[in-house]
Formats: sequence, C-alpha cells, structure tokens
Amino acid sequence: MNPLILIIEDEVAQAQILQYNLEAEGYSVRHAPHAEEGLLLVAEQRPDLILLDWMLPDMAGIEVCRQIKSNPDTKSIPVIMLTARGTEDDKVRGLGVGADDYVVKPHSIKELIARIKANLRKSGQSDVEFNYADITLNTATHRVKRGEDTIKLGPTEFKLLQTLLKRPQRVFSRAQLLDLVWGADIYVDERTVDVHVGRLRKALNAGGKDDVIRTIRSAGYALDIED
Ligand code: CA
Repeated sequence: MNPLILIIEDEVAQAQILQYNLEAEGYSVRHAPHAEEGLLLVAEQRPDLILLDWMLPDMAGIEVCRQIKSNPDTKSIPVIMLTARGTEDDKVRGLGVGADDYVVKPHSIKELIARIKANLRKSGQSDVEFNYADITLNTATHRVKRGEDTIKLGPTEFKLLQTLLKRPQRVFSRAQLLDLVWGADIYVDERTVDVHVGRLRKALNAGGKDDVIRTIRSAGYALDIED
C-alpha cells in the first residue's frame, strides 16, 4: 500500500496539479475542498500525511490542524501547512498548533515532494511501491522484484525503471528519458539511453521471462507487455 496523502485545499486547480504530481510519484491521493470534508476524510481514511491550506472557506487551516493534533487518534499524522503568506509570525503559529512543516506558496513541486518524503520518513511511512505486470519497485528499500525473483539493478537502470513505471505503456522518447533520468542539464548522447535500456531489459528478462520493454522504432521505449 502506497502512502495516502490528503490535500485539504479550496483552490481546485492547485489541488489537481498537486494530485497529478503526487500520483506520478506513486502516492495515493484524496482531495477535500473544505475543512469539514477534510476532517471527515482524516477520521475515515487515516491518511499518512496531510497537506493543509492555511485559508479555507469554512474554517481556518490552523484550526483544522489544531483539531487533528488534539485528537489522540490522528495527532501522529504529519501535517504540512501551505500558505501564501510567508511571515515568521504565521510560521510560529502553525508550528504552535502542532503542524510538522510549513511551505510557502507558490512552492515548487520538487520542493514540496522533498518535504513530503522527509516527513513520511520521520513517521516511518516512506515506502512507495510501483507495480506493473509482475514487476515491483520499492523506492524506500530500493528493491526490484519480478514475480518472486529479486532483480539487481545499477542506479541508472533503477531510475530508468522507476521513470517507466510511473506511466506504464506510455512511450518515452530518448530525449525525454535523458531529461527524466539523467537530468536536463547533463549532456549525454542519446545512444547512452539505448545502452541502459539494454541492460535493464536484460536484467528484467533474465531466465527467459517475457520482454516487458517495448521498443518503438525511432520513437522510444515503453514498459509494455506485448500481446
Ligand atoms: Ca485557500
């Protein structure tokens, strides 16, 4: 089970962008557009982490946080407050009612995900698993399995597989894979991608298993079991 993140945020467009990005990271996500529904979901679903907007239409985010943190059943759930106002006073108030972290909007998704990971690690809920067909990749243990067999991968192949697992069956071009796996600011020849995909394929298919990587001539690669 991947960690469940609850977003309590009245700005629906912002919440949707967050949800999309967090799901791509392997998290399960629920969204509540106001405090009342948020508190209901906290009680019913016991999320592993809560992203809580400071300004909600029906109740101040800080009051929502106070309620979560004063309930013995929910007080251990990490709460990250999201606020448009970056004053030191707000931060002190947020942390004063038990918020675990505090992020000022507009935040970069990358930064927010780093904070989420750090807070989940602290609470011992950091395992994220990606699955496709009989492949499982765990980002906390860095383990990859195909069926019952453990697959040993180098760091680049691991990252490559994680990238492909985020969107199974989608075709990634070599240029996209270079950006996502090696980073946009690093110059690597596109043939390097072919080399690492080759290694990944060999590791995954060891022992004569079905090929799970589809090569699309001149387009790129996809994680896809061919029919
Ligand atoms: Ca708001």
